[in-house]
Amino acid sequence: MREIGHFIGGKPVAGKSGRTSNVYNPATGEVQATVALASVEEIRAAVENAKAAQPKWAATNPQRRARVFFKFVELLNKHMDELATMLSKEHGKTVEDSKGDIIRGLEVCEFVCGIPHLQKGEFTEGAGPAIDMYSIRQPVGVGAGITPFNFPAMIPMWMFAPAIACGNAFILKPSERDPSLPIRLAELMIEAGLPAGILNVVNGDKAAVDAILTDPDIAAVSFVGSTPIARYVYGTAAMNGKRAQCFGGAKNHMIIMPDADLDQAVNALMGAGYGSAGERCMAVSVAVPVGEETANRLVEKLVPKIESLRIGPYTDDKADLGPLVTKDAYNRVNGLIDRGVEEGAKLVVDGRGFKLQGYEDGYFVGGTLFDHVKPEMDIYKTEIFGPVLSVVRAKNYEEALDLPMKHEYGNGVAIYTRDGDAARDFASRINIGMIGVNVPIPVPLAYHSFGGWKASSFGDLNQHGTDSIKFWTRTKTITARWPSGIKDGAEFVMPTMK
Ligand code: NAD
Repeated sequence: MREIGHFIGGKPVAGKSGRTSNVYNPATGEVQATVALASVEEIRAAVENAKAAQPKWAATNPQRRARVFFKFVELLNKHMDELATMLSKEHGKTVEDSKGDIIRGLEVCEFVCGIPHLQKGEFTEGAGPAIDMYSIRQPVGVGAGITPFNFPAMIPMWMFAPAIACGNAFILKPSERDPSLPIRLAELMIEAGLPAGILNVVNGDKAAVDAILTDPDIAAVSFVGSTPIARYVYGTAAMNGKRAQCFGGAKNHMIIMPDADLDQAVNALMGAGYGSAGERCMAVSVAVPVGEETANRLVEKLVPKIESLRIGPYTDDKADLGPLVTKDAYNRVNGLIDRGVEEGAKLVVDGRGFKLQGYEDGYFVGGTLFDHVKPEMDIYKTEIFGPVLSVVRAKNYEEALDLPMKHEYGNGVAIYTRDGDAARDFASRINIGMIGVNVPIPVPLAYHSFGGWKASSFGDLNQHGTDSIKFWTRTKTITARWPSGIKDGAEFVMPTMK
């Protein structure tokens, strides 16, 4: 059986802890590899490598650092098919969807090719008599990233691209469920010219995460995953004096106004609700049609489309979606569908018991639709993270707006309407981080920043965009006065510009 180890000091390294975890093929349920789970000592070894390599990398001029990313982008494009297939084989999503995962990460690498400009400081000439004042942005040192299973390419690149471009060394702790791709990305970074020790990938579970959170040489931690772990990582990192940004779960609503183009809204719901089997933090899991007539027409149009979804393994290039990632995820999603029925929601399309010939042990769940879901139900409150869409009917716009406003999570939200006034009011009043107006999954592009509000995010700086440059650097402000501006004698009063 293939054992996936770590990538430390510029090369693959076998695990030494003696602890491993299984990596499955979600389409068949077969164990296809094991992954090493790092011990505290192995995290330490990675940090030591990173710490030793970082000063020279930080002193490398920003144009040269950018060139590594120009080359890396080229390599990602060259190896796109291989990388996407590797990703799909462990995650389960379709190969085309895996390409989307990689390309969204690649776009962050393109963004950081601008690091010579992005990391520039500020300068004020003549802030006082012969005084110049300037601020520079220096790397934090060694940074770490802890990532979820659902985007094993994009999310590691959200983190390591800006961190490394800014002159930091990086420890990536990817999800143990699909660990092959992050290691391959590190190999390609070396091929692109990154010095050894600047990007280390250490596989592991809670023990590895705890070792990162308490390591005295790690200055900043970026986390993406479920809300309880995000909250834990944020608190523990802060207690240990680290800078942290932690992104959690979601329950994204789409409001459908009576004036919306219903066919467009239905197509958007199909892609955003069922694409990637609903395993996206920006998936739409709640549809809120406004008015009974909109609701009836919406459900009527959704049903045949959900029933004809093509579900298949990643080798089926016509599949719309694949299986869930693990047996646990499969059991959890089926359990939540049972719970929705018990709670009295109307199960309009039932995806339980979906079987695919030849893939009977795969973790497939069919597209599922609940209607008449109420805010007090567990299936409304919980992030299901599966191909399950809930319809919550609202009488009017205010009632529709109130639903996402009162929900625990605040990652993304969308409104479908032709009414500019309604869209503007919605974007202005809603307490959610990313808003789509006739856009179902409003994931900002690499040069803007990604992040939710409420229980979807802990910390104040977002992923990618200019926020990421701020997160991975520290500001230093220098005030320099030249002898021609220095008066004789000591000054005891607080200097001001009076
Ligand atoms: P997860 O929280 O189970 O795991 C995330 C990471 O935390 C993994 O690397 C895992 O090894 C580690 N981890 C797991 N349990 C831990 C523990 N007890 N202590 C310390 N570390 C632990 O999340 P997942 O199932 O891999 O990913 C799905 C979740 O991620 C969903 O909730 C989804 O909404 C969320 N997500 C959020 C965003 C966002 O940007 N807000 C993006 C993608 C995914």
